[in-house]
Amino acid sequence: MSLFSKRSELLKPSPTLALANKARELKEAGHDVISLTVGEPDWPSFQVACDAGIEAIRSGFTKYTAAHGIPELRAEIAKQTSDDLGLSYTAGQVIVAPGAKFVIYGLLQMILNEGDEVIIPSPYWVSYPTMAEMAGGRPVIVTCEEQEKFLMTPEQLEKAITPKTKALILCSPSNPTGLLYTAEQLKALATVLKKHPHIWVLSDDIYNKLVFPNASLKKNSHGFLMAPHLLQVAPELRDQVVCINGASKTYSMTGWRAGWALGQDKLMKLMADYLSQTTSNLSSPTQKAVLAALQKGDAELASSIDKLTVKKDWYKSQLESLKKISFVAPEGAFYFWMNFKKCLGQSVEFKGAERKLLSTKDIAEVLLEKYFLALVPGEEFGAPGFARISYAATQSDLQKSVDRLLAFERELQ
Ligand code: PMP
Ligand code: GLU
Repeated sequence: MSLFSKRSELLKPSPTLALANKARELKEAGHDVISLTVGEPDWPSFQVACDAGIEAIRSGFTKYTAAHGIPELRAEIAKQTSDDLGLSYTAGQVIVAPGAKFVIYGLLQMILNEGDEVIIPSPYWVSYPTMAEMAGGRPVIVTCEEQEKFLMTPEQLEKAITPKTKALILCSPSNPTGLLYTAEQLKALATVLKKHPHIWVLSDDIYNKLVFPNASLKKNSHGFLMAPHLLQVAPELRDQVVCINGASKTYSMTGWRAGWALGQDKLMKLMADYLSQTTSNLSSPTQKAVLAALQKGDAELASSIDKLTVKKDWYKSQLESLKKISFVAPEGAFYFWMNFKKCLGQSVEFKGAERKLLSTKDIAEVLLEKYFLALVPGEEFGAPGFARISYAATQSDLQKSVDRLLAFERELQ
């Protein structure tokens, strides 16, 4: 008998975190590594959040809270999400947990039975398929085409649905492409979903406020542009849809580990019980910090979005000098989704021999070990031929990344 569970055999380490670690190790060994792997803002956590976190510790707000979060934080999330979506959530329909990642993991644990299918459009965020498998589910990957801006069409959705389909995971703006669904595209998906009320939609909205000015986007009541949302165009799907969000990206609080979900009562009650038996509450000072970010973070959020927009525009202008590697400019989040297909089949000198580049994994290996540029190959997102660059980095690192990509292109033969 094995000492380890069958479930443990399904476990794959997060490739984004693994690559970030590898880049860190090379850096520690003295190499000038530019790591554009992990998706996290390169600016500090919001000052209002840090101040509130410190104050919480100083004032002794350091003990257990309700496992699914303090009522005032859940109420604020309910209020702001209700405003954003034009719906009315109550604090009782919100759970707060250590990270949106664990929220998604927990939701899948609560909704899937062995063999249930989870539709995941690719390119997808690296953790969705493994999390679905860890909950006994079977990921059904729908390959989205470049000419469709890597978005799933209603025809593709319809075709992927079977009697075993239990959930669909949507992420807009997308990690890894930075592209988003328009209201019309969501409406068309909603038409299909309405015919299948047994399908949960996990709407991963973690980048929905990190979007760039675009005439088709609407502002929320705080004056921020928002990615269109399925529930804005189809509020009648409300009991089928779970909205997932968190503080990591919007408030630059990745290490504080705050995520949340809003959804129908029974599922949220299950999640609250699940948290009470697993993580217990999100750290209590973090909860106060997130509350402050939500209530007092608007000025810092406006300046983060401005900073990100300038960075995106500048980096885009630099990347345009590439000849073989192309991209579609992102509409939100902090990723450029790069097309390396013209580099495949070409060769470079690597470790004293000629190396034919047969996959974007090969390309990523050469870029890391020869050019000391770390990015995440498309294979990890279910989309070979592409790679993701996280551009939430310093201008000097971004400049060096372009220089290295140009040098790589020049070497290809
Ligand atoms: N969803 C997506 C699409 C993400 O990129 C991330 C970032 N890790 C998460 C969820 C999870 O975020 P966190 O656990 O930091 O809240
Ligand atoms: N979401 C980020 C990324 O895709 C963080 C890494 C992770 O949680 O895997 O890089």
